[in-house]
Amino acid sequence: MLDPAFKFSQHSLSDFVDCPRRFYLRYVAKQAWPLVETDPLGLDPFQRQLYLWRGTVLHRWIERHWLGVPAAASDDPELNLWWVRFQNTDFSDLPAQRLPELALVAALDERLLYARFDLLAVEDGRAIIIDWKTLRGERAPRYQVFAERLQTRIYLYVLATASAAYNDGVPFAPEQIRMRYWLANFPDAPWVEVPYSEEQYARDREWLQQLIADVTRREGEAQFEMTPDERKCAYCTYRTLCRRTEAQAQPPQSDQWIDIEAITELDY
Ligand code: SF4
Repeated sequence: MLDPAFKFSQHSLSDFVDCPRRFYLRYVAKQAWPLVETDPLGLDPFQRQLYLWRGTVLHRWIERHWLGVPAAASDDPELNLWWVRFQNTDFSDLPAQRLPELALVAALDERLLYARFDLLAVEDGRAIIIDWKTLRGERAPRYQVFAERLQTRIYLYVLATASAAYNDGVPFAPEQIRMRYWLANFPDAPWVEVPYSEEQYARDREWLQQLIADVTRREGEAQFEMTPDERKCAYCTYRTLCRRTEAQAQPPQSDQWIDIEAITELDY
């Protein structure tokens, strides 16, 4: 059912964890559906698109910064605020070689696992993945949320498996790598850093093997069931197709935060 060359990613596995049917519709059936995602914190579609645009432009400006190309100007105040915060952040502790928008693919048994890092900084004996986050919410998430995030586990696993080209022909050891989230909206605590270890690497390998085996054992649409948690349908683009238009979102909590980023084909 699934193309053997399919590259699993944080986005596709996150969809599968949320709802197997969403994974089927998006990655197997490649079903386009003309419904916008609704916003958990109540932004109207225009505001949401504007927020996505800001995040995308910020990522491009930061990429250009690391490539030594001047960023373009904007008259958008929030985008400019994020950019000033980025420029005022001290990155001097990062490893010397800075590689923006770097994609790596790791083999996992018979399957492939893909990650595209906003920035990978490497030097002899250490490597840090940096991810630029424009999270919205009243408070930044707790450390544990970042440490357990599917993105964190997949990115660190991929780097520890497939980084030989950046470390003299041998992948970095888990203890030599970390993942840092830079938070555009929380200047008082602008980053969170998650270390890695051999033990966590082994746990992640086993977890990913089981997760991917759960996807690939399924044959046919009927085996990709709908999530029983209808709250997940409230924001999903397929909710009319699944006839779950009545799904109710939970009211936003004061400690809720939202991560919205434009996802392109490249991120799959
Ligand atoms: S609407 Fe609900 S059941 Fe349908 S794909 Fe989306 S999350 Fe899954």
